[in-house]
Parts: sequence; C-alpha cells; structure tokens
Amino acid sequence: MTEIIIRTNGRGNAWPVFLGQQHPYYNNTNPDELANASFSVIKRDFYSKVIDKELLIDAGHGTIPFLMKHQNRIPEAIVLTHPHIDHTLSLDWLAQSHFRSNGTKYPVYASKMCWELSLQSFPQLEKIVEFKELMPGEPLVIEEFDDLEIVFYPVFHGESALGAGMIYIKLMNGSKIRKALFTGDVLCPLLRVQDYLELLGCDVVYTDSNNRFPYPKSNHWSIAGLEGNVESKFFNDWLNEKGRFLSWLIRPNLPIEFNERIHGYFETFLNEQVHQNNISYSVFDFIRKIDAKHVNIIHYSGREDKVYNESETLDETGLEKWANDLANNLDIKSHFKTPKVGDEFVLAKAEKKLHNN
Ligand SMILES: [Zn+2]
Ligand SMILES: [Zn+2]
Repeated sequence: MTEIIIRTNGRGNAWPVFLGQQHPYYNNTNPDELANASFSVIKRDFYSKVIDKELLIDAGHGTIPFLMKHQNRIPEAIVLTHPHIDHTLSLDWLAQSHFRSNGTKYPVYASKMCWELSLQSFPQLEKIVEFKELMPGEPLVIEEFDDLEIVFYPVFHGESALGAGMIYIKLMNGSKIRKALFTGDVLCPLLRVQDYLELLGCDVVYTDSNNRFPYPKSNHWSIAGLEGNVESKFFNDWLNEKGRFLSWLIRPNLPIEFNERIHGYFETFLNEQVHQNNISYSVFDFIRKIDAKHVNIIHYSGREDKVYNESETLDETGLEKWANDLANNLDIKSHFKTPKVGDEFVLAKAEKKLHNN
C-alpha cells in the first residue's frame, strides 16, 4: 500500500527572524523554524514510510538540513515557483549532490524566465541542471515522479519576479480526483476562467500569507481582503496611481520574443478581464472562488501589517485562530491552518497503483 503526502519542509518568509531580533511566530532557537517555505510531494510505503519518490516545490534557506534529517535522500526533481532567492538558495547544494552522486544533470522544472533569472544567481548550475520548461496553463508530466502531472499558472509578484507562478497537482485516487495547489509568492494570480474551474474544490492549498492586510507594495497579497467590490477598486486605484493598466501585471511573465503559447494564454486572460474583472488580491477572495477544503498559511511575516497597518504580529496559534474566525464571519467554509515544520497532509492513499487523470 502506498500513499502520497505533502510535507512542509519549511514555512518561513524571506528572512523569518532578523539577526539580533525575535519574532512571535518563529522560534529563533529552532533551526527548522528558520527555513524558507518549501514542500515535498512524497510517494511512500504506507507502513514503513520509506520514500519511493519525492518532488520538491521550492528550496530556499534550510531545505537541505531538513532533507538530511528526513531520510537523507536526494529528491527526484524540483519545481520552482519563482526566482527569488528565498525559494532557490538550496538549488546549488541539491544539484551538486545529485551530480556528484550520479554524474547526471538534476531535473529542474520552471518557467523559462524564472530559470534564466535563477541562472544569474547560480551560473555554475547551467552545466549540471536539466532544465524542463513549464508553460502557462499547460499540464506537464514529471517523468521522475511516476508521470505525475503538474500545471503552472502564472501570477504577478512584482516586476522583479520574472516567470512567477503557482504549481497545481492533480491526481486520481481510485475514482476520486485529488487536487493540491502551491501558490508560491503572489500579489495576484493571472488565471483564465477555465483555470478557476479546474481549481474548484481543491483539497489543499499552501498559500503565501506574508501579511494579513492589503499592502500591494509588498508584492504579496494579504490573507484578509477588502470586502465586496471595494477590493477591485482599491487595486485599480493602486494600478492607476502608478499609471498602469491590467496589462502591466502580465509583463513579468511575457518573454520578449513572441511565443504563441504564452502570448495566447495572456490574450485570453486579458480578453476575459474586459468582460469581467475576476482577479483576486487576497487569500480569502481567491479561496472563496475555488472553494478549497484546507488552506495552509505559510510565508508569514506580519511586518507590513505592523508598519503600515498598526496591527500586531501574531504567533502561530493566534494567526490560525484569527484566520478561522474571520473566515467564519465571512461564511468561508475552508479550514485554515498554520502548519508546523514537518507537517504532513495525506493527499491520496491507495492499495492499487495511483495514476494521473
Ligand atoms: Zn518568498
Ligand atoms: Zn518572492
């Protein structure tokens, strides 16, 4: 009997605790808590828990020591959400381990723009990585993980986050479909109507929760939104203030050279926005649209809330309670959780072979 689980390897934002300081959410005497947000999708034996296949989603500070403590093996491949260093820092250690042990290149899945920018930080990786390109909205098979299918959905996370996106996983468990989504860092997803339909009823979402209240300059969305139509007005005003239009949000995901698949995706996206602006700028607004069952809050900082919203920084129990209370008030049925490092979510359990849809 095998099972597929998602493990939280780290849950921190870029710098969970600044040196010389403390943070109510992160225990600075526990190295595990200082790791950046990273996840493993794991296929393992149900009884022995021995890992058969492992796919990493992002790897910033602290990922490798965590992996060493948990069966000390090299994951079969990695998927990157975006090229910021708190999501890519461990790539070097990872790819070098693989190359020096196996003599072969390490499989890295990312959008082309994300990978090209990552290479600027780690030029040495070009020779030891096998880059596999993710295209917006197109399912791609992870051969290294028993043909697991993933989809990359582009997001806006600031002008410097080239090729940033969410990673979506869908698999069949017997006759049941199981869905998981990793938002990466995001101010707003750039999804088409069909993508929202695809994501409907997600079993679990791991979402960027950098701040509780809207502060678009952070390039992160907030957990709580502004209710009703106010939200889109708030963000349209923010765009207008900068002299920008919606099309500005897609620029960090548009290659200079025309690419029919990428430009086609965004043409549909922008055309749909003319009829109905459905962009989400908060976790709650997004979760309501896709009606997710479980929502894991990660990448919490609280700094923007404190500096610009005069709101206190919460500890993990406080944050979880605040999110669930507010969700209740807003009649959002999803269950919110602040996962501990090492937390496991069982996505599928099967006696028979698990297969993709
Ligand atoms: Zn980040
Ligand atoms: Zn980022």
